[in-house]
Amino acid sequence: MNEKGILLFGGTFDPIHNGHLIISRSAAEQLGVQKIILIPSAVPPHKQNKIFTEAEIRLEMVHRAVEGDALFEVSDCELHRQGPSYTLDTVRYFHTKYGPELPLYWLIGADSIPELPGWYHIQQLVEECTLVTAGRPGSPCCCWDRFQNILDARQIARLQKYLLATPLLDISATDIRRRVPSGLSIRYLVPEPVRHFIRQNNLYVSFPTGRQLG
Ligand code: ATP
Repeated sequence: MNEKGILLFGGTFDPIHNGHLIISRSAAEQLGVQKIILIPSAVPPHKQNKIFTEAEIRLEMVHRAVEGDALFEVSDCELHRQGPSYTLDTVRYFHTKYGPELPLYWLIGADSIPELPGWYHIQQLVEECTLVTAGRPGSPCCCWDRFQNILDARQIARLQKYLLATPLLDISATDIRRRVPSGLSIRYLVPEPVRHFIRQNNLYVSFPTGRQLG
């Protein structure tokens, strides 16, 4: 394994889209890592009350999205875990797999920054991996105050250091899930094999926005 490290990228991927692929590739280039591991989450801790496409289907779309691209790997490690899939557990899984010396980077979009204070054992997480952030349209990173009592100054500075200048792409899975039942095209928003898979399997036809249960 390349000593420069691995970029881990977890998400609901419901569905995976070109925004995910472009920002992760750009982040990998900037960090000098030679591998990106895409990790579909089973039960995202912050989205537990929502309905999602079956995990195995989301996983299949991720595989199809990056088939033939040697930069990417896909891991189903979170799908076999009971309960919520915590990022810290996943980082530890990869440290065990590749050894504690190999740097691990964990990629998030800027819209996830405000959620970080609520992440499971965030203080431990920022010590055990490097959190890197991709910009996202409409999500300025301006909420560092809320980290004051949660992370120390060194940890906050490290988060700020790894705000990457990745392409700003206004693509979201929510928009894709809305477009399909509205009869709007999702061409160029998702890789072609994913678009075909969605069509062949009638995904999202009656699945507008990720409805709340109850
Ligand atoms: P949804 O619309 O269902 O919330 P999403 O498009 O945000 O989905 P997720 O699978 O939830 O996709 O995202 C996984 C990670 O990728 C999150 O950290 C999110 O911030 C980031 N991300 C997703 N799309 C983009 C984008 N276009 N630019 C930057 N980051 C993104």
